[in-house]
Amino acid sequence: MTEEMLGGQHHNDESDTEPSVKKALATADLVRDTALIRHLLEQVAAPIRAYHEFMKRERPVTCCSECGGAGYNLAVANRRCSKINSEQRCNGTNAIAKEISDWDECALCQATGYHRNKECPNCKGVGYIFVTRDKVTV
Ligand SMILES: [Zn+2]
Ligand SMILES: [Zn+2]
Repeated sequence: MTEEMLGGQHHNDESDTEPSVKKALATADLVRDTALIRHLLEQVAAPIRAYHEFMKRERPVTCCSECGGAGYNLAVANRRCSKINSEQRCNGTNAIAKEISDWDECALCQATGYHRNKECPNCKGVGYIFVTRDKVTV
């Protein structure tokens, strides 16, 4: 195939296409793009919706002996709590609370941390209530 032939082929494609066909093709492109955008939007929206309505929160692994603040990183276990209450750093220690029995699912938010689309007031958005506080040794 020569360059001349390729050029001729291209020219024919342009001239043979009826305006109505061009319009139809453009519409098809638009429909396809709209479907694609809708698909992408659903992909983005689904996890957000699930997070608020269906997904349970990760169970904390540490619990402050003073303020009850929940932690999700065992690396901070047995270290001083980093929470700041009224400009004073909490004096508590992040006690290890990694047992399933250490936490009760919050009955108000079913462990989602959300109640009526706001941070759950019962568990402060943690989703779990620490239940074995008495056993924690500092
Ligand atoms: Zn604390
Ligand atoms: Zn709750």
